[in-house]
Amino acid sequence: MIVALALTASLTVTPTSRAMQPGEPVLLTVTSDRPLSAVHATAFGQTTPGYEMSVADKREWRVLIGIDLDVKPGAYEVKVTAASADGPLETAIQLNVRPKTFPTRRLSVDEAFVNPPASARPRIDAEAKETAAIFDQAGASRLWDTFVRPVPQPANSAFGTRSVFNGQPRNAHSGADFLSPAGTPVKAAASGRVVLAKSLYYSGNTVIIDHGLGVFSLFAHLSRIDVRVGDDVAGGRVVGLVGATGRVTGAHLHWTVRVAGARVDPLAVLTLLGPRAPRPVRAPRPSPRRQWRW
Ligand SMILES: [Zn+2]
Repeated sequence: MIVALALTASLTVTPTSRAMQPGEPVLLTVTSDRPLSAVHATAFGQTTPGYEMSVADKREWRVLIGIDLDVKPGAYEVKVTAASADGPLETAIQLNVRPKTFPTRRLSVDEAFVNPPASARPRIDAEAKETAAIFDQAGASRLWDTFVRPVPQPANSAFGTRSVFNGQPRNAHSGADFLSPAGTPVKAAASGRVVLAKSLYYSGNTVIIDHGLGVFSLFAHLSRIDVRVGDDVAGGRVVGLVGATGRVTGAHLHWTVRVAGARVDPLAVLTLLGPRAPRPVRAPRPSPRRQWRW
């Protein structure tokens, strides 16, 4: 019993996020006084593997999880498990998700996109299944390091917006829209592997990049695709050009990020994992001289 208590006490979890609200990624810093060989976090019904901060010192790990934009405000438990030479460790923390109100926007688009013709149904359904299967198959290792802006232009605050197309309400907007002119090169926001590169009914010419450990980027409405499925891309590599393909009212870049199954605001990912990301609040740990690295 005393041993069990000591083991539990050696695992510390510190969450860092832009805000504790729907649509926000949350970076968990997991520290221990002993080397860990694996770390997993279970939150919002998803179990996500973590990654060590240093191969030489396996006492500090991170797990990136996400609060989906449809999560209701309230207290949610995050269970963290770890494997060590002394046996499994486990602890839990509570995330207090605060309410967030997303705006509503009204758009007029080609009627065929609001009520697609029956002949388009099989294609739409097949594409929905295909993308869902991709998001369900996370790469086993972390490929991303930092996240960068895919285009230099500013983004509007469309993430989470409830759209009303031609008077008919539709699903919440699950990405950020960048106001870039047609032809602007679109850069991979982080390193990863291309897992989809083709034209889809709604999102037009689309590229999905698997960044590993449940993190995905989707770029939509491209005028041209410059990568193929299976390509390994470095962060900053051009994957296509901004266009106006699919369900759009004009040229822009749509960027969606999935984290551990959650739809999160790409701009929050830039804040949390970008080159100028703030350092997480450090958890108390027994070796204060260790270097902190992103
Ligand atoms: Zn969009």
